[in-house]
Amino acid sequence: MTNQSHTPSTSPTKTTVTVLGLGAMGQALAGAFLEAGHPTTLWNRTPGKGDDLVARGATRAATAAEAVRASDLVVVCLYDYDVSQAVLGPIAADLSGRTLVNLTSDTPERSREAAAWAAGQGIDYLDGAILVPVTVIGTADALLFHSGPKSVYEKHEGTLKALGGNTVHLGEDHGLAAVYDNALLDFFWTSMSGLVHAFALAGADGVKGADLAPYLSALLAIFPESIASTAVEVDSGEYPGEQAPLVTEAANVDHIIHASEHRGLDVESLNGIKSVLDRAIAKGHGTDGWTAVIEAVRAPVPGAAAH
Ligand code: NDP
Repeated sequence: MTNQSHTPSTSPTKTTVTVLGLGAMGQALAGAFLEAGHPTTLWNRTPGKGDDLVARGATRAATAAEAVRASDLVVVCLYDYDVSQAVLGPIAADLSGRTLVNLTSDTPERSREAAAWAAGQGIDYLDGAILVPVTVIGTADALLFHSGPKSVYEKHEGTLKALGGNTVHLGEDHGLAAVYDNALLDFFWTSMSGLVHAFALAGADGVKGADLAPYLSALLAIFPESIASTAVEVDSGEYPGEQAPLVTEAANVDHIIHASEHRGLDVESLNGIKSVLDRAIAKGHGTDGWTAVIEAVRAPVPGAAAH
């Protein structure tokens, strides 16, 4: 092991932290712990990552077991839960009696499985999810979710806040961090997909991205109000559609599909949206508002799942 001290120096009074996984995110997490003065130990499958962190005072461990034994708090950030279980399974005895925080992204089911495994090994376990890119880690704006026992979260809250000022404990159910993460990224990725399609549609008629961009931003200004009103409608099950009934919105989506087809663009996701709209209308929601599509989303076509 090597351990060189550089500014900012770590403090022996601060919680010792181990970071397993030095991908782009793992390195950012370790850097934030170091910045906050936590004695930080690192491990990564492939050697050679994290030299700058070692230069800043982190300790490099030769094995995951050695890394875990160095700290009270162990933070995992790996590719997915298959990988994290493959790394953690063989070192369960070393983890026993310590706190494990898994910041790897995956599904709520995988989080709950991991929590059940940890409970069986005597490991205090928090599940987590990171909602910001690496460059935001360690800043006041960084949003990170945690779920699992509140007492475990409170014990390490001060240390976990080194990763981001917007660090939230969502509840005792270990799956909650992934529930929120999956839902927010559902919105993000489908929106990003629509954004790229919009640029392709305008671009097919020679409109530059830079010329369309200001109007897309203006459109975004309605989102906070839309999100708030949609939440109320989803929670109440009432979807007022006097101002914009679903049948009218479906015709609008049809226009975009036809224009896209005419320009030789991909329409697979738009057809998917139209198909959900049509099913909501067939269920009697034609005069309701857009939010009524949730009734079709909750009743997918049997056998239509991709995998
Ligand atoms: P990277 O692809 O940069 O790193 C993946 C990490 O997993 C590396 O440490 C890699 O080790 C390790 N790994 C992969 N397969 C194995 C294996 N079979 N055995 C042991 N280790 C393995 O990913 P990121 O660091 O970017 O992401 C990590 C997690 O953070 C993901 O769940 C991601 O969704 C989440 N996240 C990332 C964000 C980002 O902006 N990057 C934003 C929000 C969340 P090796 O170096 O040896 O390959």
